[in-house]
Amino acid sequence: MLFRPNKRMRHPGATILNVLAVVFVLASVASCAPSTSSSAATPSPTAESPLPTPDPAILPEFTPLARRVGLQRQTTLHTNMPDRPRLDVIKYLVGTGDTLFGIAEKFGLDPQSVLWGNWDTLEQDPHTLQPGQELNIPPVDGVLYEWSAGETLYSVAKAFKTTPEDILEWPGNHLSFSVDYNDPQIEPGTLIVIPDGRRDLPSFLGPGYCGSVSSGAIGNGSFSWPTSSHWLSGYNFIPGLHEAIDIGGSIGNLITASDSGVIVYAGWNNYGYGNVVVIDHGTGWQTLYAHLDTVSVGCGQSVFQGGPIGTMGTTGNSSGPHLHFEMRSDIWGRVNPLNYLP
Ligand SMILES: [Zn+2]
Repeated sequence: MLFRPNKRMRHPGATILNVLAVVFVLASVASCAPSTSSSAATPSPTAESPLPTPDPAILPEFTPLARRVGLQRQTTLHTNMPDRPRLDVIKYLVGTGDTLFGIAEKFGLDPQSVLWGNWDTLEQDPHTLQPGQELNIPPVDGVLYEWSAGETLYSVAKAFKTTPEDILEWPGNHLSFSVDYNDPQIEPGTLIVIPDGRRDLPSFLGPGYCGSVSSGAIGNGSFSWPTSSHWLSGYNFIPGLHEAIDIGGSIGNLITASDSGVIVYAGWNNYGYGNVVVIDHGTGWQTLYAHLDTVSVGCGQSVFQGGPIGTMGTTGNSSGPHLHFEMRSDIWGRVNPLNYLP
């Protein structure tokens, strides 16, 4: 009678076995649910729920069910305890197919931290990652910094946007709390962990830099795609790692000015960008076009939106033909071009 209202009972195929199964399921559910119903209907003491009575004094006897629940609680408590953190830098040999993202994930780090921890090995550019490189894996997110003679905790903390205390208090740095901030007695060449430190990506310097630039064409403030293809290859925009988008295509595809402006950089770049063009739009915005095969504009030249500035290539640190395209604002710094392109 009790189980008649159950929906499963109305199924035309119901048999005695079904009925028994339903009775069993309901009994199980009842034993797990809080005991809000009348206890008279469930005379068995082992069917009582152990959950609503946290005071051990009210539960003097250990029934098998209660013991099982107790064990589960202990297991959960143990799992939630944090593992002992790693304090030291470890080494990792880059294998075929490795990416900065994959390596970072393996060690629970942000991809930026892998780049910032291998600033020289990776030449400040995530595109240079290749099999056979030996990378430093920092114990925490932040920066690894090789100490130089004459530096102070203040100067290093300031350079990486953190505090002297954050560097001092990292146990893996093995620094004394009574150390002189101005002369911390750190051996030059020591790798120091700077927890939560940050590095700025390099700016566009190299032989192609034009120096001071005269006035010229001014942009209209809206931007167009700099090449006919609109699909991304390689890296997307990631702050502190790759502040640009890589647009796919073929060698020789035309590259055009995203907005009107004046050429302030045309030629080779020292930071792995290969042949580069930078346009200053006179509106507080600059756009950068890297890995070009050819450059068809020169310093100080005015260009107009949609006009040719060169062709797509794979010069510099590049694993295949693509356009590395950056947008930089005087106010916001480097921004994600996808938020500004139509
Ligand atoms: Zn790129």
